[in-house]
Amino acid sequence: MRVDGSLAEGVGSGRGGNGDDGRSSGEIAGAWQRVKRRLRAELGEDVFASWFARLELQDVSGGVARLTVPTRFLKSWIESHYLDRVLATFRSEADGIESLEVGVRGAMAPARPGPASVVKPAPRPAASPGPAVDIPEPERAARGSAPEGELGGAPLDARLTFESFVVGRSNALAHAAAERVARHDGGPALYNPLYFHAGVGLGKTHLLHGIGHAVKNAGRRVIYLTADRFMYGFVNALKTQSALAFKEKLRAIDVLILDDVQFIQGRSIQAEFGHTLNALIDAGRQVVVAADRPPTELEALDERVRSRLAGGLVVEIGTLDEALRASILQSRLEAVRATHPTFEVGPAVAEYVAKAITANGRDLEGAVNRLLAHATLTGAPVTLDTAETAIRDLVKNREPKRVKIEDIQKLVASRYNVSRSDILSERRTAAVVKPRQIAMYLSKVLTLRSLPEIGRRFGGRDHTTVLHAVRKIEKAIGEDTALCDEVELLKRMLQD
Ligand code: ADP
Ligand code: MG
Repeated sequence: MRVDGSLAEGVGSGRGGNGDDGRSSGEIAGAWQRVKRRLRAELGEDVFASWFARLELQDVSGGVARLTVPTRFLKSWIESHYLDRVLATFRSEADGIESLEVGVRGAMAPARPGPASVVKPAPRPAASPGPAVDIPEPERAARGSAPEGELGGAPLDARLTFESFVVGRSNALAHAAAERVARHDGGPALYNPLYFHAGVGLGKTHLLHGIGHAVKNAGRRVIYLTADRFMYGFVNALKTQSALAFKEKLRAIDVLILDDVQFIQGRSIQAEFGHTLNALIDAGRQVVVAADRPPTELEALDERVRSRLAGGLVVEIGTLDEALRASILQSRLEAVRATHPTFEVGPAVAEYVAKAITANGRDLEGAVNRLLAHATLTGAPVTLDTAETAIRDLVKNREPKRVKIEDIQKLVASRYNVSRSDILSERRTAAVVKPRQIAMYLSKVLTLRSLPEIGRRFGGRDHTTVLHAVRKIEKAIGEDTALCDEVELLKRMLQD
């Protein structure tokens, strides 16, 4: 059964297709939607947006409802503050739910995530507010001991430094700006805020940590926060009526680094974010921000905050070109060799990996880990074959580019020195007929359009005319190698 709405992906798929007691996934999805609606109404828009907007139901089976969130941080926050409430609400909306499990979704989860903690409520009448949630020991220990002091800043990763950051064409400007800001001391901040944006895995977090280390090493006060932790700080401070103190502390630092600001949401939180930004910038403190999109596209933020974010230096980090991928790969391999001296990856394998993994730095890192695992498990050197198997799933199946009939017509026309309107016209001179037939043939093999549709797009011709052209060119290609090469070339030009 299909489930409509945003829950379709989570509930309709996999083992959770049906509740174990025969409920349809639609019923469960409906119940879950009611749960979310109630949480929103009971907790208010801000709290809901901060903690529950990205909470999704994966499936329900054996009385266990499995929920997922995108980060470990959200998981532990929800577990320690809201699990009991979510469970009570869910139980009152759907029968047979005994416990909740919160997991971290997505490929970016750490390689070996701990088992999702299961929380069972103490026995009690359904839907009545129960005793405190039974939080597993490790989570309890983790709570309240923010690694970077009371502000709850996230720790800096020792590996993500300027030294380990490889500079190439696509990130040179971002890197230069980061270094200048990090090495700047005295006087008002340079570019404020400094705003990086790029798709996933292109080095934003690496650069931010690099700035963090450099500022810290220079003895200045820096705090690195993710949007989640920023929101956590505020919600927590608002709850304990210490928001003012929180803000004061934030303003007492030299450099505020804020990662993944696209996740900041909720009206009062973004207002606080705006105030903090203004206060820091006005006081000449450096603010550095990263997001997955330019400031103008941060729809969740209000116009004034967006324009403040856009008011400093906005730098995009581009995709990694092959040369940059090769250097990042080399530096990764060298780093690994420091701890695994026998780990050897020959130039051919390295070249293959740098060519094949085009998406981002994260996948490159994943590839190195795979190769290392392979080498240590088998004790055999990494060959091209083993590399290919090891990284197969990281290699993007290059989706064939969608080719438009219009582009085919334009390209073929220009190759044969006729105009596109000649191709669409009724003219039957040989100089026009051949390119027209080639264009029809290419439209058939490179697009998913039907023969009648292709006919329509070629000046309203009949589908039999198109079929005739396709057959004719097919036959000609088989007999004429020059034409065959010519058509291959056209195909490649259209698909690249
Ligand atoms: P983002 O925050 O943009 O999603 P990250 O900074 O987390 O990306 O980068 C993903 C991985 O790729 C990290 O392991 C990072 O060290 C690596 N990486 C990305 N760009 C570079 C680079 N220019 N030099 C070295 N490593 C890089
Ligand atoms: Mg990041």
